[in-house]
Amino acid sequence: MKNEKEIIEIVNKQRTFFNSSVTHKYDFRIDQLLKLKEGIKKFESQFSAALKDDLGKSEFESYATETGFVLHDLTNTIKHLKKWIKPKRIKTPLLSQPASSQILFTPLGVNLIISPFNYPVGLTFAPLIAAIAAGNTAVIKTSELTPTCSMEIQKLIDEIFDPEYIAYIPGKVSETTLLLKQKFDHIFFTGSPKVGSIVMEAAAKHLTPVTLELGGKSPCIVHSDANLHIAVNRIVYGKFMNAGQTCVAPDYVMVHQSIKEEFLEKIKQRIINMYGDDASLSPDFGRIVNEQHYSRIVNLIDQDKVIVGGQFNKADRYIAPTVMENVTLKDNVMAEEIFGPILPVMEYNNFDEIFDTISKLSQHPLACYIFSESKAVQDKLISGIQFGGGCVNHCIQHLVNPNLPFGGVGESGIGSYHGFNGFERFSHKKSILKAVSWFDLSLIYPPYQKKIKTIRRIMK
Ligand code: NAD
Repeated sequence: MKNEKEIIEIVNKQRTFFNSSVTHKYDFRIDQLLKLKEGIKKFESQFSAALKDDLGKSEFESYATETGFVLHDLTNTIKHLKKWIKPKRIKTPLLSQPASSQILFTPLGVNLIISPFNYPVGLTFAPLIAAIAAGNTAVIKTSELTPTCSMEIQKLIDEIFDPEYIAYIPGKVSETTLLLKQKFDHIFFTGSPKVGSIVMEAAAKHLTPVTLELGGKSPCIVHSDANLHIAVNRIVYGKFMNAGQTCVAPDYVMVHQSIKEEFLEKIKQRIINMYGDDASLSPDFGRIVNEQHYSRIVNLIDQDKVIVGGQFNKADRYIAPTVMENVTLKDNVMAEEIFGPILPVMEYNNFDEIFDTISKLSQHPLACYIFSESKAVQDKLISGIQFGGGCVNHCIQHLVNPNLPFGGVGESGIGSYHGFNGFERFSHKKSILKAVSWFDLSLIYPPYQKKIKTIRRIMK
């Protein structure tokens, strides 16, 4: 554990190192990214074991959603960084001619990266990759809820990086609180809206810019013309991955009344196909992170409304993939982001009911999923609902595409990242206009007598 004096010392050392400009150089950045890639490969089995220990994740999920995801991100970043860091030439208006204009991507400085428990490896290293690519230093704080993962992440960071460049701060909320008292140049936070507001309040004291990757209740809409086979396959996959502890999991389903019975029957079958009759025996179904979250989620289940699942076992923090029907906004399960393996299903008859329900729950969900074969329906829902990002006829996949910016809107977050967008998020876009000295436009200087007509002609 670090005390405040040690934390201040680390931040100060990082600032001195950043000011030396070493991290700004392209070769340095690439070397660090390559080093990180080697480190992630070396730690793959340790991460897999840690993810099993903390969250009961299968080897496949650990690779696909954590280590493999990070390696893919690294490969993409290493491949494109040379192109990304090139100054971007921009047009110059007549009044400023002759001159050239460009945008330089310059690093922000010393960053604080705070990650959540649900994808501890992926959500620690993905922002770190962007921070390194953009030429920054970073202080990292992971979640205390996944201690085995945190220990392995610390080992990797301590092994490959000097703390004056990238430092890992072990500890709990008290250490995060100490970190938030310091002045950083940017704070990148992934977690709940509640803690997001604590982070933003602390950042405001130093006028530090923040990126907030938050959560909320993400809707999934299944229209009457949806391909139900596909919808059910993809909803079950998106909802029950990591036992429902995914920020972009479909939180609840709104299904058109005309296909509700068929949808529910198919979803029951699909859960059995994927996890067997007893999901507690499936090697592919995860566990809830701790007892507190386990009890919170169990209390959201109304057994009278359960049509699949509903079983739980405190000893291994198991909650079965559960589907509840006839859910209304008055049910506990609709009062907060579920973040667990419960899928409430509500029915609708017209689009106004969808818009009304979403606006009552959270005005700006992080994600939204629309299952419909009609472009008109897809367009109406995409434009009628404000959400961070989402998919048509799929779940989760929008965040897998590194070319799509990933982030929330309104209360689901500030700023986005992944691929170039992550590089850009950790960069300052410095605008430079380079003028010539062999020409001087007298029009812009006083005395302005008789010049107004000309300026009006140019600026309109
Ligand atoms: P959390 O907000 O409880 O914790 C996130 C981080 O903040 C952890 O590192 C934790 O140690 C720290 N923290 C907790 N309380 C704090 C406090 N009082 N002061 C300072 N720091 C504090 O979130 P969580 O439970 O780890 O993760 C779940 C939440 O994160 C969900 O809301 C989910 O939707 C969201 N999430 C969002 C994304 C995204 O990319 N948008 C990704 C994953 C999770």
